[in-house]
Amino acid sequence: MGQPLVDRFSRVHHDLRVSLTDRCSLRCTYCMPEQGNEWLAKQSILTVDEIVEVATVAAAAGVTTFRLTGGEPLLRTDIVEVVERLARLTSPAGPVEVAMTTNGIRLPELLPALIGAGLGRVNISLDTLDRERFHKLTRRDRLDDVIRGIEAARDSGLRPLKINAVAMRGINDDELVDLVAFAIANEAEMRFIEQMPLDAGHTWNREQMVTRDEILTALGRRWELEPIPGRGGAPAERWRVGDTGSVVGVIASVTAPFCGACDRLRLTADGQLRNCLFSVDEYDLLPVLRSDVSPDERVASVDRVLRNCVANKRAGHAIDDPGFLQPARGMNAIGG
Ligand code: SAM
Repeated sequence: MGQPLVDRFSRVHHDLRVSLTDRCSLRCTYCMPEQGNEWLAKQSILTVDEIVEVATVAAAAGVTTFRLTGGEPLLRTDIVEVVERLARLTSPAGPVEVAMTTNGIRLPELLPALIGAGLGRVNISLDTLDRERFHKLTRRDRLDDVIRGIEAARDSGLRPLKINAVAMRGINDDELVDLVAFAIANEAEMRFIEQMPLDAGHTWNREQMVTRDEILTALGRRWELEPIPGRGGAPAERWRVGDTGSVVGVIASVTAPFCGACDRLRLTADGQLRNCLFSVDEYDLLPVLRSDVSPDERVASVDRVLRNCVANKRAGHAIDDPGFLQPARGMNAIGG
């Protein structure tokens, strides 16, 4: 125990994405079905104690960032406690960082308490600035609430503040420049994500996807983009945006995969460890966390499962392989 989490390809894991729920206040078409979603059973959802137990073992093994996600993490009624207890953990490299990916809707009411609890960073998802489009895309008329969330984050001073958009053909690909301008006006970094085959309806197709190169071409018509070197294990490639003093990022998981530098693991809300967004295998922590053994034995077992998950990580996500199978869970149940 305590040794770093190194896989067969010498990748050292520092980042654990923790999904807190599969529920969400929006129903983005590329992520969740409108109806008929099979929700995770309530009794299978990890408690705060269980999340902290896993996170403590992960931190001891060198995980330094916990990113809370979902579903919508702010729907957890105990979200402030989750942040507060995770933020107290330390890894051999020092204190850990707690970050969050959210749709922002509950940020105005929760942000002061979250920052007080130790939240270090926030990414907010926003795909369009047009109210009707937003309604159609998320199946909820809540654009104003998301914008209020972004403004609350801006005014809180939490930095870096990032806004994430999935770029989609015929849906928001005419808004890429406007989204960057909106982010700049709100002191945020805009990041575009290539759409991935993770929708619950399994409707993804490559032609529909707006590629990294297309995004750069569209932005390049408006600004000079200067590449920023030193990406490390980060999913986004980044560019300086002309003389705006701002930065834009592109997460090109499909056309320019960054698996070779991946340092991420995932914990689903129902206690399954995953070594890749696209993996079809999961490593079940629930029976371990709920077994009637001594705390020491439980810690040892969690550590074993964690290492087994890391040891079996594949070289890449293999979206392009003819045998690629889309994971059974949608993004909301894996944790984006
Ligand atoms: N509810 C939170 C939010 O809205 O950010 C956190 C969960 S959401 C699943 C996390 C991120 O995953 C969002 O930025 C969302 O746009 C992205 N996402 C969901 N499905 C995706 C897909 N099929 N391809 C690319 N990104 C996706």
